[in-house]
Amino acid sequence: MFVVLDSPPGLPGSSGWSGAPSACPGCGGRLRWWGYARVRWIRARSGPPLRVRPRRVRCAGCGVSHVLLPASAGVPRHADAVPVIGAALLGAVRGHGYRRVAAELDRPASTVRGWIRRATGRAELIRVQAVRLAAAMDVLLDPPGPVGSPLGDALQALGAAVAATIRRLGPVAAPWPLAAVISAGLLGPLPRTRSS
Ligand SMILES: [Zn+2]
Repeated sequence: MFVVLDSPPGLPGSSGWSGAPSACPGCGGRLRWWGYARVRWIRARSGPPLRVRPRRVRCAGCGVSHVLLPASAGVPRHADAVPVIGAALLGAVRGHGYRRVAAELDRPASTVRGWIRRATGRAELIRVQAVRLAAAMDVLLDPPGPVGSPLGDALQALGAAVAATIRRLGPVAAPWPLAAVISAGLLGPLPRTRSS
């Protein structure tokens, strides 16, 4: 599964940077559109759930298919929209306990604790990906300095990468969805699947 910009035109990888793979990650083969994955219902910060039906691509070489999850939905195998999860992570970086963050977001405490743990566990991965992308988007950009925690450093780097991407490409997506594309879904990991 890949987190991609909401409406990448053309075939994956054909239109520049979209978060979609340009070739099969397994064998390097050509990808073709291949129907749709199952419908997902995503809970936004408020209001009714959003219906999302991700497109799928299939490798012409090895036959493996991949789900392209739109960035507005954003986080593979989680039912909450990416701005909700992002807000929880920011709350944690500000030093708020997960119970308080959960209450503010009206989500179960165990769910919020899980998000914070997962993101903290891959904070360095997120930071490295974000710094690399920010440098590719803006060669003159200074790398962000440390803010005192791995997750804080990761979110700061993500913020810099989002800003650099928007400066370079224009408003291709809202900030949190863009952060989800850059970080492979904030919470990863993203196993290869035949269908999901
Ligand atoms: Zn393949």
